Amino acid sequence: MKQNFFIIGGGVAGLSTAYLLLQQGHGVTLADLSHPGQSTWAGAGILCPLLPWDYDEAVNRLAMEGMRAWPEWAAEVKRLSGIDPEYWACGMEILAPQTRQAGLAWCRRHDFPAESLGGNRLWLPAVAQLRNPRLLAALAAAITAQSGRILPDCEITGLRREGRKAVAAMAGQAEYAADVFVWAGGAWAGQALAGMAPVPHVRPVRGQMLLYAPGNHALEHILYQDGLYLVPRRDGHLLAGSTLEDAGFDASTTPEILQKLHEAACNLLPGLRAHAPVRSWAGLRPGSPDNIPVIDRHPDFDNVWVSSGHFRYGVTMAPAGSRLLAELMLGSSPHLDPAPYTWDAALGRKWLKDEVAHD
Ligand SMILES: Cc1cc2nc3c(=O)[nH]c(=O)nc-3n(C[C@H](O)[C@H](O)[C@H](O)COP(=O)(O)OP(=O)(O)OC[C@H]3O[C@@H](n4cnc5c(N)ncnc54)[C@H](O)[C@@H]3O)c2cc1C
Repeated sequence: MKQNFFIIGGGVAGLSTAYLLLQQGHGVTLADLSHPGQSTWAGAGILCPLLPWDYDEAVNRLAMEGMRAWPEWAAEVKRLSGIDPEYWACGMEILAPQTRQAGLAWCRRHDFPAESLGGNRLWLPAVAQLRNPRLLAALAAAITAQSGRILPDCEITGLRREGRKAVAAMAGQAEYAADVFVWAGGAWAGQALAGMAPVPHVRPVRGQMLLYAPGNHALEHILYQDGLYLVPRRDGHLLAGSTLEDAGFDASTTPEILQKLHEAACNLLPGLRAHAPVRSWAGLRPGSPDNIPVIDRHPDFDNVWVSSGHFRYGVTMAPAGSRLLAELMLGSSPHLDPAPYTWDAALGRKWLKDEVAHD
């Protein structure tokens, strides 16, 4: 039976859910107040956890499924929207002295293509990337092409309820009625909307990025070492990122950190030394303990669902996370075990000290 969904949040979590629900014949309205620091716009678009062997299976289950699904998703979104999100299976080279053996063993166990290049270099040919601003534009256009409605510059302040049922989303004087509501507010989902508990332990984790102009490098794949990655784009631009900072909702960049990033990028790719970055920005990831998102019904309501806390890998996870959410909302059997992504499981997880730098 066709239902009408109202989605709050126009990052990849909200847009991918809207896209999937429309594909299944449902009605969707999506509201987004693009806060500065929207994580999806700011991200690198690498489709893989940075060293998957460092993460819990609950992260990798969504990430690996997302990696498998993205080629088809990207092609269909491009077909519907006419906008190319620049899916590129460029591969990732990891310079990882300490974790190479562990990495190879993990890849063998998980049937994940990996090759030792010698000299402590590891090559992961299956890693791909998307170009985030283009992905956002493409998803939004694919949604409207399927008769979905997007309300830009629209801040939802709360939900009007009747008992345990939400009946409308409120934006100033305006109200939007729907059958089912999804709260996909990224880092802001860790703050309460009026009358509604915040998503447990979700908090902003700032990441700063640098961009280099085309012509400054000959890199044709992602390069990673010690927390720093370089990502070449199809048109020759190069990204360098990123940081993990506890700066609240401050999405500004800081000159000292940008300088450190530039130094680190030049150490990894000495050819960059002669070129100043042409642009920098910061984004606020929806941080969560252990990087495990919450994909579950909101405990205060019968018809409000949550998708947030994807932290460092929300783009990678989007096809799998939105599929799971759609299955749960529509009452079909989930294709993977939803237990790690429940609200209650999130309540039981804690942030480790020093997981995020305080600079
Ligand atoms: C520097 C950086 C690098 C990254 N690199 C990668 C990577 O390589 N690979 C990867 O997979 N992931 C990466 N990520 C993480 C990824 O970007 C996030 O996990 C993902 O984008 C989160 O999507 P989201 O939709 O939950 O949040 P967001 O993209 O932040 O979207 C949430 C939206 O909700 C809106 N909103 C909030 N409250 C309201 C309200 N009340 N009313 C209306 N709208 C509201 C916000 O303004 C925002 O637009 C990176 C992130 C950063 C910052």
